[in-house]
Amino acid sequence: MSRRRVLGLVPAQRQAEGGGFIVRRPFPAGEISAIDPFLLLDEMGPVEYSPGKAVGAPDHPHRGFETVTYLLAGEIEHRDSNGGFGVITPGAVQWMTAGAGIVHSELPTNRMMRLGGRMHGFQLWVNLRAASKMIPPRYQGYEAYDIPSRELDGGGTLRVIAGEVDGLVGIVDTTSPVTFAHVSLRAGESVDWHVADGHTALVHPFVNGVVVNGVEADEGHMVVCDRESGSVTVTAGERECEVLLLGGEPLNEPIARYGPFVMNTREEIIRAFEDYEAGRLGSIVATGPGTNRN
Ligand code: MN
Repeated sequence: MSRRRVLGLVPAQRQAEGGGFIVRRPFPAGEISAIDPFLLLDEMGPVEYSPGKAVGAPDHPHRGFETVTYLLAGEIEHRDSNGGFGVITPGAVQWMTAGAGIVHSELPTNRMMRLGGRMHGFQLWVNLRAASKMIPPRYQGYEAYDIPSRELDGGGTLRVIAGEVDGLVGIVDTTSPVTFAHVSLRAGESVDWHVADGHTALVHPFVNGVVVNGVEADEGHMVVCDRESGSVTVTAGERECEVLLLGGEPLNEPIARYGPFVMNTREEIIRAFEDYEAGRLGSIVATGPGTNRN
């Protein structure tokens, strides 16, 4: 089988996000093509919070895309205007379809606020096609033990959250075809990823460097493959490594984005702000088992 060509490496800079946490963000940045349908990838931390210092994102809106939160360490309490509630713990994922609009908060649990501790995880933004931008919001939350996982021949681990890698099918029901997987490889070990023809294929190494179809990438340098047909072979170097695999069907539609909204036209962005300011995206009702809104 043919192999995808590597178009380039995108170095991720560490920067402070609005809520005050440090993220490593390979995109959006500069002139990157071939990442559609993805809009943003943030690696949150890893950071060690002292007691009382953990931070997060209080109530804010989204419309027109999906936010995916995948945690490796720490605890994030999610709450939204659609009645969604969940505590995301290490290995767990939350796939939130903002669709027509939602207001949510993403905050450390009260316990983590009080005691501090390690926080590490990812937030991925997945675009919705024009026909799906105004679908009703929904929330899919899965615990670590829900996520299909398998030991690889060389002793590493494959976890497939969405889509399919090496015959293992993920658990999330995506709105358009998307693959999201976490692979841990021992030194020198490989995994083959057969990406659907024409789909976007990205590899993000976040612990140590990796070799993708013969091209070396250091930790934090996202590998962008072409969109022809063929497979992607991910190989650890002399040290074990951890990577995210991101694949998806390109939407090939115009993008108008501003802050928390991603639509197709500027007029739709203006409408989103108007709707939010008029309260039409709802608000969070502070009831339920949560601990950090008292
Ligand atoms: Mn958010």
